[in-house]
Amino acid sequence: MERSALPPPASQVDVLAIAAHRDDVEQTCGGTLLVQQSLGWRTGILDLTRGEGGTRGSAAERAAEAAEAAHILRVTHREALDLPDSNVQNTLENRLKVAAVLRRLRPRVVILPYWQGRHPDHYTTATLGYEACFLAGLASLDLDAVHGAPHRPFKILYASLYADVRPTFVVDISPHIETRQQSLFAYRSQYGGQPAGAGLFVPEEDIRERMFATARHFGLLAGVRYAEPFVQKEVGLAEDLMLLPVRSL
Ligand SMILES: [Zn+2]
Repeated sequence: MERSALPPPASQVDVLAIAAHRDDVEQTCGGTLLVQQSLGWRTGILDLTRGEGGTRGSAAERAAEAAEAAHILRVTHREALDLPDSNVQNTLENRLKVAAVLRRLRPRVVILPYWQGRHPDHYTTATLGYEACFLAGLASLDLDAVHGAPHRPFKILYASLYADVRPTFVVDISPHIETRQQSLFAYRSQYGGQPAGAGLFVPEEDIRERMFATARHFGLLAGVRYAEPFVQKEVGLAEDLMLLPVRSL
Protein backbone atom coordinates (compact mmCIF):
# COMPACT_ATOMS: atom_id res chain seq x y z
CA MET A 1 0.00 0.00 0.00
CA GLU A 2 1.17 3.52 -0.73
CA ARG A 3 2.28 5.36 2.37
CA SER A 4 -0.10 8.22 1.53
CA ALA A 5 -3.05 5.78 1.54
CA LEU A 6 -2.44 4.87 5.17
CA PRO A 7 -4.44 6.71 7.83
CA PRO A 8 -2.31 9.25 9.71
CA PRO A 9 -0.71 7.70 12.80
CA ALA A 10 -2.34 8.55 16.12
CA SER A 11 -0.82 11.21 18.29
CA GLN A 12 0.89 9.98 21.45
CA VAL A 13 0.73 13.27 23.33
CA ASP A 14 -1.36 16.41 22.81
CA VAL A 15 0.98 18.91 24.47
CA LEU A 16 4.77 18.43 24.46
CA ALA A 17 7.12 20.63 26.48
CA ILE A 18 10.70 20.64 25.15
CA ALA A 19 13.44 21.88 27.48
CA ALA A 20 17.22 21.91 27.70
CA HIS A 21 17.55 20.51 31.20
CA ARG A 22 15.73 18.20 33.51
CA ASP A 23 13.91 20.49 35.98
CA ASP A 24 13.42 23.35 33.46
CA VAL A 25 9.82 22.33 32.71
CA GLU A 26 9.11 21.99 36.42
CA GLN A 27 10.09 25.64 36.85
CA THR A 28 8.58 27.27 33.77
CA CYS A 29 5.47 25.39 32.59
CA GLY A 30 4.83 22.41 34.91
CA GLY A 31 1.66 24.04 36.23
CA THR A 32 0.36 24.43 32.70
CA LEU A 33 1.00 20.75 31.97
CA LEU A 34 -1.05 19.93 35.08
CA VAL A 35 -3.84 22.22 33.84
CA GLN A 36 -3.88 20.50 30.44
CA GLN A 37 -3.82 17.04 32.02
CA SER A 38 -6.76 17.98 34.25
CA LEU A 39 -8.65 19.01 31.09
CA GLY A 40 -8.16 15.52 29.70
CA TRP A 41 -5.20 16.07 27.38
CA ARG A 42 -2.12 13.88 27.23
CA THR A 43 1.05 15.77 28.12
CA GLY A 44 4.71 14.97 27.58
CA ILE A 45 8.22 16.27 28.25
CA LEU A 46 11.32 16.04 26.08
CA ASP A 47 14.55 17.01 27.85
CA LEU A 48 17.44 17.54 25.44
CA THR A 49 20.21 16.82 27.97
CA ARG A 50 20.64 14.45 30.89
CA GLY A 51 22.39 16.71 33.36
CA GLU A 52 25.75 14.98 33.39
CA GLY A 53 27.55 18.31 33.77
CA GLY A 54 25.86 19.33 37.02
CA THR A 55 27.74 20.04 40.23
CA ARG A 56 25.51 17.67 42.17
CA GLY A 57 24.04 14.27 41.36
CA SER A 58 24.95 11.71 38.69
CA ALA A 59 23.02 11.39 35.44
CA ALA A 60 21.44 8.17 36.80
CA GLU A 61 20.28 9.99 39.93
CA ARG A 62 18.83 12.79 37.85
CA ALA A 63 17.06 10.26 35.59
CA ALA A 64 15.31 8.73 38.61
CA GLU A 65 14.40 12.20 39.87
CA ALA A 66 13.08 13.22 36.45
CA ALA A 67 10.89 10.11 36.38
CA GLU A 68 9.51 10.95 39.81
CA ALA A 69 8.85 14.56 38.76
CA ALA A 70 7.09 13.30 35.60
CA HIS A 71 4.86 11.13 37.78
CA ILE A 72 4.01 14.12 40.00
CA LEU A 73 3.23 16.24 36.91
CA ARG A 74 1.05 13.36 35.61
CA VAL A 75 2.61 13.41 32.16
CA THR A 76 1.93 10.51 29.81
CA HIS A 77 5.46 10.45 28.46
CA ARG A 78 8.91 11.77 29.31
CA GLU A 79 12.20 11.11 27.59
CA ALA A 80 15.66 12.65 27.36
CA LEU A 81 17.98 12.99 24.39
CA ASP A 82 21.75 12.78 24.80
CA LEU A 83 22.83 16.30 23.86
CA PRO A 84 25.77 17.51 25.97
CA ASP A 85 24.77 19.56 29.01
CA SER A 86 25.86 23.22 28.71
CA ASN A 87 26.68 22.66 25.05
CA VAL A 88 23.29 22.41 23.30
CA GLN A 89 23.93 23.26 19.65
CA ASN A 90 21.47 23.87 16.84
CA THR A 91 23.00 21.39 14.39
CA LEU A 92 21.30 19.33 11.68
CA GLU A 93 22.05 16.17 13.67
CA ASN A 94 20.28 17.58 16.73
CA ARG A 95 17.35 18.95 14.72
CA LEU A 96 16.87 15.45 13.27
CA LYS A 97 16.91 13.92 16.75
CA VAL A 98 14.16 16.27 17.91
CA ALA A 99 12.20 15.91 14.65
CA ALA A 100 12.21 12.11 15.11
CA VAL A 101 10.62 12.51 18.55
CA LEU A 102 8.04 14.94 17.14
CA ARG A 103 7.04 12.48 14.42
CA ARG A 104 6.69 9.70 16.97
CA LEU A 105 4.75 11.68 19.62
CA ARG A 106 2.81 13.94 17.18
CA PRO A 107 1.89 16.77 19.57
CA ARG A 108 -0.56 19.48 18.52
CA VAL A 109 1.03 22.00 20.90
CA VAL A 110 4.76 22.34 21.55
CA ILE A 111 6.10 24.48 24.40
CA LEU A 112 9.67 25.76 24.01
CA PRO A 113 11.85 28.00 26.18
CA TYR A 114 11.82 31.69 25.25
CA TRP A 115 14.37 32.56 22.56
CA GLN A 116 16.38 35.00 24.67
CA GLY A 117 17.87 34.46 28.09
CA ARG A 118 20.92 34.03 30.23
CA HIS A 119 21.69 30.36 29.61
CA PRO A 120 22.78 29.52 26.04
CA ASP A 121 21.18 26.05 26.32
CA HIS A 122 17.77 27.66 26.91
CA TYR A 123 17.75 30.09 23.99
CA THR A 124 19.42 27.57 21.71
CA THR A 125 16.67 25.07 22.56
CA ALA A 126 14.09 27.64 21.39
CA THR A 127 15.62 27.87 17.92
CA LEU A 128 16.55 24.21 17.70
CA GLY A 129 13.02 23.21 18.77
CA TYR A 130 11.34 25.59 16.33
CA GLU A 131 13.43 24.39 13.39
CA ALA A 132 12.87 20.75 14.36
CA CYS A 133 9.09 21.39 14.34
CA PHE A 134 9.43 22.74 10.81
CA LEU A 135 11.65 19.87 9.70
CA ALA A 136 9.34 17.20 11.18
CA GLY A 137 6.61 18.32 8.79
CA LEU A 138 8.65 18.04 5.63
CA ALA A 139 7.62 15.04 3.51
CA SER A 140 11.05 15.19 1.87
CA LEU A 141 12.77 14.61 5.21
CA ASP A 142 13.64 10.94 5.02
CA LEU A 143 13.69 9.76 8.62
CA ASP A 144 13.54 6.10 9.55
CA ALA A 145 9.95 4.84 9.23
CA VAL A 146 9.85 3.85 12.92
CA HIS A 147 9.59 7.56 13.63
CA GLY A 148 6.37 7.83 11.67
CA ALA A 149 4.97 10.03 8.94
CA PRO A 150 5.64 13.76 8.63
CA HIS A 151 4.04 15.79 11.39
CA ARG A 152 4.03 19.51 12.10
CA PRO A 153 2.70 20.80 15.43
CA PHE A 154 -0.18 23.27 15.06
CA LYS A 155 0.95 25.66 17.78
CA ILE A 156 4.35 26.62 19.17
CA LEU A 157 4.41 28.50 22.48
CA TYR A 158 7.36 29.94 24.36
CA ALA A 159 7.52 29.62 28.16
CA SER A 160 8.80 33.08 29.11
CA LEU A 161 9.06 32.87 32.90
CA TYR A 162 12.76 33.72 32.96
CA ALA A 163 12.67 36.22 30.09
CA ASP A 164 12.35 39.96 30.57
CA VAL A 165 9.42 40.15 28.20
CA ARG A 166 5.70 40.86 28.44
CA PRO A 167 3.75 37.61 28.05
CA THR A 168 1.12 37.23 25.33
CA PHE A 169 -1.04 35.36 27.82
CA VAL A 170 -0.76 33.55 31.13
CA VAL A 171 -2.22 30.24 32.30
CA ASP A 172 -3.95 30.15 35.68
CA ILE A 173 -2.15 27.42 37.65
CA SER A 174 -3.61 28.31 41.08
CA PRO A 175 -5.04 24.83 41.84
CA HIS A 176 -1.75 23.18 40.82
CA ILE A 177 0.99 25.35 42.29
CA GLU A 178 1.73 23.04 45.25
CA THR A 179 1.97 20.02 42.93
CA ARG A 180 4.29 21.94 40.63
CA GLN A 181 6.48 22.75 43.63
CA GLN A 182 6.58 19.08 44.64
CA SER A 183 7.72 18.16 41.12
CA LEU A 184 10.67 20.53 41.41
CA PHE A 185 11.66 19.21 44.81
CA ALA A 186 11.69 15.68 43.38
CA TYR A 187 15.19 16.72 42.25
CA ARG A 188 16.64 16.03 45.68
CA SER A 189 20.22 15.92 44.37
CA GLN A 190 19.77 19.53 43.26
CA TYR A 191 17.62 21.05 45.97
CA GLY A 192 18.10 18.81 48.97
CA GLY A 193 20.30 21.21 50.93
CA GLN A 194 23.33 19.02 50.35
CA PRO A 195 26.87 20.16 51.14
CA ALA A 196 28.28 19.65 47.59
CA GLY A 197 28.14 22.95 45.79
CA ALA A 198 26.89 24.82 48.86
CA GLY A 199 27.05 28.52 48.08
CA LEU A 200 26.19 27.87 44.45
CA PHE A 201 22.69 26.65 45.24
CA VAL A 202 19.95 28.55 47.05
CA PRO A 203 18.15 26.86 49.94
CA GLU A 204 14.81 25.14 49.39
CA GLU A 205 12.74 27.78 51.17
CA ASP A 206 14.28 30.52 49.02
CA ILE A 207 13.40 28.58 45.87
CA ARG A 208 9.86 28.07 47.08
CA GLU A 209 9.48 31.79 47.85
CA ARG A 210 10.89 32.78 44.47
CA MET A 211 8.66 30.32 42.58
CA PHE A 212 5.52 31.45 44.38
CA ALA A 213 6.37 35.16 44.11
CA THR A 214 6.97 34.85 40.38
CA ALA A 215 3.74 32.91 39.86
CA ARG A 216 1.88 35.51 41.95
CA HIS A 217 3.34 38.32 39.83
CA PHE A 218 2.11 36.74 36.59
CA GLY A 219 -1.20 35.86 38.22
CA LEU A 220 -1.77 39.49 39.19
CA LEU A 221 -1.30 40.57 35.58
CA ALA A 222 -4.44 38.60 34.70
CA GLY A 223 -6.47 38.84 37.89
CA VAL A 224 -5.83 35.28 39.11
CA ARG A 225 -3.73 34.03 42.01
CA TYR A 226 -0.86 32.08 40.41
CA ALA A 227 0.00 31.87 36.73
CA GLU A 228 2.69 30.89 34.22
CA PRO A 229 3.54 33.27 31.32
CA PHE A 230 3.78 32.44 27.61
CA VAL A 231 4.65 34.25 24.41
CA GLN A 232 3.23 33.29 21.04
CA LYS A 233 4.53 34.82 17.82
CA GLU A 234 1.14 34.77 16.08
CA VAL A 235 -1.48 37.43 16.65
CA GLY A 236 -4.46 36.43 18.82
CA LEU A 237 -7.88 35.77 17.28
CA ALA A 238 -11.11 36.78 19.02
CA GLU A 239 -14.38 34.99 18.29
CA ASP A 240 -16.65 36.94 20.61
CA LEU A 241 -15.68 40.21 22.31
CA MET A 242 -18.14 39.39 25.09
CA LEU A 243 -16.06 36.38 26.14
CA LEU A 244 -12.66 38.09 26.27
CA PRO A 245 -11.11 37.36 29.68
CA VAL A 246 -9.04 39.66 31.98
CA ARG A 247 -10.61 42.86 33.24
CA SER A 248 -9.27 46.17 31.87
CA LEU A 249 -10.15 48.32 34.91
ZN1 LIG B 1 17.87 24.91 32.41
